[in-house]
Amino acid sequence: LKGEFSIIRRETGFVTGVVCVLTDVTEQEKTEQEQRDFVSNVSHELRTPLTSIKSYSEALSDGAWRDEKIAPQFLEVIQSESNRMIRMIANLLDLSKMDGGQITLQTDYVDLKRIINHILDRLVFTLESDSNAGNYNFVREFTTRDIYVDIDQDRMTQVIDNILNNAVKYSPDGGTITVKIEDNHRSVIVRITDEGLGISKQDAEKLFDRFYRVDKARSREQGGSGLGLAISKEVIELHGGSIWVDSVEGEGSTFNFELPYTEFTELDGEWG
Ligand code: ADP
Repeated sequence: LKGEFSIIRRETGFVTGVVCVLTDVTEQEKTEQEQRDFVSNVSHELRTPLTSIKSYSEALSDGAWRDEKIAPQFLEVIQSESNRMIRMIANLLDLSKMDGGQITLQTDYVDLKRIINHILDRLVFTLESDSNAGNYNFVREFTTRDIYVDIDQDRMTQVIDNILNNAVKYSPDGGTITVKIEDNHRSVIVRITDEGLGISKQDAEKLFDRFYRVDKARSREQGGSGLGLAISKEVIELHGGSIWVDSVEGEGSTFNFELPYTEFTELDGEWG
């Protein structure tokens, strides 16, 4: 708390009162601290891939380029680290646009079940065609009703892709990933459950913060930036919804998001 006192006097100099204004500066200081942390995180996150690029290119110019076996490996590291930086910068720009309110959603009434089926089919196909990818069972438990929601299809696809890719990234080979769509007449809830590492209560609270990663080394190894869930949260909130995680450490996690939804009734002949 910050306090300011003013003394009220008559012309004669006689004190007739005191005004005290107390301002709660906790929020303001918190945001300032968050901004400082954010800048320091960005610098750190960008410096890490840059340091690798620098040392691998130095090694190449010091003579490693002559080694037919080593040179392509070093070039691959340089390329993947540069790609990681490009992705991170694109994500940061995206977040900063959302912060500045410069993102307007391009919404349409779309069939949520159709979109999720399409994303899942594409993911299954990608995993099957990648010989290095593990095997995962995908289970779809969808409400039988048609769910038409007013959403920005590209942005929502980005969110669902991100949660599903995480489910794959943080799950053991052979794990089951279940996607549920529930409707409760006023909102629709999508739940994506994996049988992966799980997340502790403490970590779960911070998971949607920018750059927060439970295991930095593991996430980096997988090409993660720690920004995916922060972006997902912004997108869901822009749609008037909410996102959260339920998890039991060592057993798995469920990422849930809820979107406002108005049932379509034949009788009304219109939305709402
Ligand atoms: P990243 O690019 O690191 O995956 P995200 O913002 O998508 O960034 O996720 C933040 C962190 O949340 C991850 O680094 C990981 O520690 C944790 N996480 C996300 N999804 C899962 C999951 N399904 N199971 C366990 N941990 C997860």
